[in-house]
Amino acid sequence: MAERDLIIIGGGPAGLTAGLYGSRAGLQTLLVEKLSPGGQVLITDQVENYPGFPEGLSGFELVEKMTAHARKFGMEEMNGEVIGMEYHHPEAVTVKLADGNTLAAKAVIIATGAGHRRLEIPGEEEFTGRGVSYCATCDGPFFRDQEVAVIGGGDSAVQEAIFLTKFASRVYLIHRRDRLRAVKALQERAFENPKIEFIYDSVVKRFDGDESGLRSVTIENLRNGKVSDLAVGGGFIFVGMVPNTGFLKGVVDLDGQGFVITDEWMKTSANRIFAAGDCRSKPLLQIVTAASDGATAAFAAEHLIYGV
Ligand code: NAP
Repeated sequence: MAERDLIIIGGGPAGLTAGLYGSRAGLQTLLVEKLSPGGQVLITDQVENYPGFPEGLSGFELVEKMTAHARKFGMEEMNGEVIGMEYHHPEAVTVKLADGNTLAAKAVIIATGAGHRRLEIPGEEEFTGRGVSYCATCDGPFFRDQEVAVIGGGDSAVQEAIFLTKFASRVYLIHRRDRLRAVKALQERAFENPKIEFIYDSVVKRFDGDESGLRSVTIENLRNGKVSDLAVGGGFIFVGMVPNTGFLKGVVDLDGQGFVITDEWMKTSANRIFAAGDCRSKPLLQIVTAASDGATAAFAAEHLIYGV
């Protein structure tokens, strides 16, 4: 079993930045990724809050640049699904892959990110891909001149509602409270957009439709208990993120929602295992904070490996 200095699991901004810092520090660095590098950012239409790009750029473009940058310094890549890992005394971590292979490294950085939370309501699964979606960039163009609903009140819901107005004739933003959670700048852009209608204090109870796809959402007003149907062809769900950490139970400490607990050096509860990016328990999930975590984790791994 060939041993690397550093194995990074996951190729989003956290993993790619760790790859850049690790390989640039002279560590033999291998990035293990299920499919291809990118993560959530790949499906972000326009990134306008990553420093250094005042005009904004697409998520795809940013990931391409980050990947090229890490490769330039020698980061290696392989495809594989990690299903477990274990610390071995005194200075190795073994990483188990779904295909039965095992890798080993002096340090491992977990950068597996997070996926979209589901509402877990009737019709959600049935109409996913036929009107119900978790990705406006991927599916928005299918809803040209149609009315759609966006569910959620955070940055994702508001940003994607604005994006969907490029295609949809009307976007209903349905939020369970009486005010949005999104940052002010996004809220202001949404309030100014005549195509967006806000439905507050309301939850979606079910999705309904027929063989051609989604036709309506059933909404309950939490203030007066009134239940009504809203005719829409699309239902976009943005109600937060769930970390991709299922394979880490019993390996490192997780918080109540399954995010990896680290210290400020990105060190987990397990020896020689670090975590970075959206899979980590922290207040702000952003590309820039993921990149920052990745740099810190690689720096901490470098110090551990070189013993400085
Ligand atoms: P979020 O900030 O956790 O917001 C989730 C929203 O969904 C909240 O409004 C929440 O309501 C609502 N919600 C949660 N569970 C629900 C349920 N079962 N039914 C109905 N509504 C529910 O998640 P996010 O918007 O996906 O953002 C995740 C992270 O990515 C954040 O750190 C965010 O800042 C970041 N992000 C940044 C940008 C950007 O900078 N442009 C874009 C996208 C995401 P309550 O408000 O009542 O809790």
